[in-house]
Amino acid sequence: MTDGPDDPPSTPHRRATDHQQGPLRSSRGDVGSNGTPRYLDPGDTVFSLWGRVLMARYRRVAASVTRHIVQRPLHIGISARIFHPEAGSTGLRSKNLQYLEESIAQWVMSRDVLVFMIPTVNTDGLLHPSNIRLRDYARHLDGLVLQGGADVSPQSYAETPTRPEWSGDRARDMYELELLHEFVEAGKPVLGICRGCQLINVAFGGTLYQDIASDVPDSLAHVNDDYDRNRHDITFPPGSSLARLFKGQASGTVNSIHHQAVKTLGRDMMVEALSVPDNMVEAIRYRKAPFVMGLQWHPEFHRAGGVELLDCTGILDQFLRVARETRF
Ligand code: MN
Repeated sequence: MTDGPDDPPSTPHRRATDHQQGPLRSSRGDVGSNGTPRYLDPGDTVFSLWGRVLMARYRRVAASVTRHIVQRPLHIGISARIFHPEAGSTGLRSKNLQYLEESIAQWVMSRDVLVFMIPTVNTDGLLHPSNIRLRDYARHLDGLVLQGGADVSPQSYAETPTRPEWSGDRARDMYELELLHEFVEAGKPVLGICRGCQLINVAFGGTLYQDIASDVPDSLAHVNDDYDRNRHDITFPPGSSLARLFKGQASGTVNSIHHQAVKTLGRDMMVEALSVPDNMVEAIRYRKAPFVMGLQWHPEFHRAGGVELLDCTGILDQFLRVARETRF
């Protein structure tokens, strides 16, 4: 039904002739002959109308879900460093403290994501029993960063400490091994830093040098009094994902603040970086997950865009991309 030049829009005084224009022309001007509004398609049935209503509703929900996926900032969990109570001390030092070193949180937040430190859980705590488990954190967060810190306990890879001061932090191992397990089970990405790299290797059955200087005497000093100013070069083995990421860059310089290192690789682990010239394992990746990677250095102490030390923003972005893809 169209209004031609000789057929101007209906006005109240023309209503008397409207019915002569055809059977679909309304006698009242604004509603159809069966009482339905005139903007409706004459061929519409109740079913097609409902179909269009539902499609419109679906399009609205789909648009809002897409907005949610694209715009909601990622939620990244960071494992806690643990300060165990010191014997004989009072005040805060007599308590179990769990904490973040600020650079790690700020490095991850530099990509506009939210960061949450994951505390240890104690389901049968005497004071505050709870049903919350680390699995609940894995369900609600989009990815996990394992912080650096204390040594991994040799007990965690079935060895005894060769010196008492190398016995590591078994309690933290148990907590982080469970966290790692839950995030891998949930298919979510994990990035291990320094101790985190060693923990990933141990979680998949690998072992560590308890002390590089005594186990591999010819090696570089991977730790000294310079702390994060101690550095060395690394290379990326051909075929590794880091070789692809740092294409055209045969080597890089990283900080080195560790006296333990990967000895035997865990199952399905790939070497992603080696120190030069002593060939210590400096990065590993678990092949059977979208993203489980360990870096032996501390990328959070490198300046983004810096030329002196390897800019690791690309690695962080890869981790966060997988976090976005595996979020649901
Ligand atoms: Mn090193």
